[in-house]
Amino acid sequence: MNQNIVSCGHKVNIDTHVVLWNKGFVCPNKRGRSTCSYHDPKLNDAPSRKNTAYKILNPESAYKELAQRVHQLVLHYDACYSSFHCHQLMTKSSFKGSHFYLDLDGTLYQTCDLYWKTNTAPADDQQGNERAIHVEMANLSWEALAKDSEWIPSNKDKYLKKRGRWVLELPNEYRKKIRTAGFQATPARVYGTRGYFSKKINDRVVRMWDFTEEQYQALIKLCIGINKLLPRVKLQVPFDKNSGRHPLDRLKNYSKFSGILGHAHVQKGDNGLECKYDPGSAFNWARLKKAFNSSTRGSTSS
Ligand SMILES: [Zn+2]
Repeated sequence: MNQNIVSCGHKVNIDTHVVLWNKGFVCPNKRGRSTCSYHDPKLNDAPSRKNTAYKILNPESAYKELAQRVHQLVLHYDACYSSFHCHQLMTKSSFKGSHFYLDLDGTLYQTCDLYWKTNTAPADDQQGNERAIHVEMANLSWEALAKDSEWIPSNKDKYLKKRGRWVLELPNEYRKKIRTAGFQATPARVYGTRGYFSKKINDRVVRMWDFTEEQYQALIKLCIGINKLLPRVKLQVPFDKNSGRHPLDRLKNYSKFSGILGHAHVQKGDNGLECKYDPGSAFNWARLKKAFNSSTRGSTSS
């Protein structure tokens, strides 16, 4: 079972299951980063080519350059049932992609070498993908709530309370694609008796059930691994020292931030771009902060 994430021949073992693109999902729409120089520049912002066209020249130098350029890991929800579902949508698109998918059961999929650019968060300065690694985490967001659902309309909520637990009702076609057989997706935390969280992000109230415990555990390992591979992606999340809160709206200094942040933190929708809300109101930023504090304490004291 592979546990490595990889870039330009460098590997980091992150102590959790990672399905690489040779065994799982291949990013259908890679691009060259305009800030990197060890590939054919015709691959930048050009239509998708076949996978063999994406060649990294001089991987060691490419790795050093990439580590200088990339300083953000951007977190997304995929508004899908599962990573298989998410990949179906990426494949139908002519430009979408994400370096990682994080499935409901905590399985990580790496879809391409991190050297390549994937297009999931242009950010309000249109440069967001150049500086970022992306992870699409399986969660329906407001699509799970019957009254808020848009692209997966339904007349009942997609989470049901069974024997005191909230459980995601997965259609058969998606349930059988989850790697952990018989996995039941249940939120890591619930809010009151209604189960879902509700907070305003970039001026919209986002109602959603939380990610799974398995997703949080794998995500924290991914963040720590990305930081080892690309140290400019610092182990920090947006946090306001004065209020003691994690801001959810777009940050003022979003293009400069070095660390782990959400799509909503970089894209409110200036210049005709879509306004973004992910990873959403249920996401537990405080848990990441706490995990990073103990992980950096551990490494400095040893
Ligand atoms: Zn997003």
